[in-house]
Amino acid sequence: MLLEVKDINVHYGKIAALKGISLEVNEGEIVSLIGANGAGKTTTLKTISGLRPLTSGKILFNGEDISKMPGHKRVILGIGQAPEGRGVFPGMTVQENLLMGAYTRKDDLSKDLAEVYELFPRLAERKSQFGGTMSGGEQQMIAIGRALMTKPKVVLLDEPSMGLAPMLIAQIFTIIKEINSRGTTVLLVEQNAQQALKLSDRAYVLETGRVVKSAPGRELLDDPSVREAYLGGH
Ligand code: ATP
Repeated sequence: MLLEVKDINVHYGKIAALKGISLEVNEGEIVSLIGANGAGKTTTLKTISGLRPLTSGKILFNGEDISKMPGHKRVILGIGQAPEGRGVFPGMTVQENLLMGAYTRKDDLSKDLAEVYELFPRLAERKSQFGGTMSGGEQQMIAIGRALMTKPKVVLLDEPSMGLAPMLIAQIFTIIKEINSRGTTVLLVEQNAQQALKLSDRAYVLETGRVVKSAPGRELLDDPSVREAYLGGH
């Protein structure tokens, strides 16, 4: 097992955001977290990447307890994150933004940079444009590309389809599949549950800080209560 989250509790002040979340991600999988606003999806990703501290519980990566490890060390171990809200550096070019993802690496970056440009030809066309002047969808691509530049074993993607036009949404999901088929494990948070479940090996449904259901993605697509709550009841 690549990533194991064991009964974690996370608080913002006195408010419990995660109340005993457990989940597993095996090497090579695409795993999704779905759930309503405020269910704790983003907090779960931030806790895995080390941006939020745990109150209790454990996170294991390749069997190693990383619960107290600082975030930058988790990046070196192989946990990459494309955060919600993107965090693109506006005054840096597209290429400089991508290279920022690799600042912990000392090896040759050219192959990975070429691969990111192959996944996102739009970024290649605009490598000298300032990040801040790229469109919302393009900034999303930068955020994902930057996470890939850390050469992660698992990439955590927070709402990659958010704010994108329908055509771009389809494209982003195709790219996620492609990233996975090139060997990167994916943990995905998505509002767009239909699309996420379709491409996920497994998924977890979160409600108010708890996992209420977990199953293969396709199975959850056919689950009446999931359809009712997250797929518009169709
Ligand atoms: P969304 O889909 O709306 O992003 P989410 O499932 O990702 O929702 P989280 O963002 O993880 O949910 O939030 C979980 C809970 O923690 C919510 O009740 C939220 O209000 C609370 N929370 C999140 N961030 C903070 C913060 N910085 N300070 C206080 N409370 C927070």
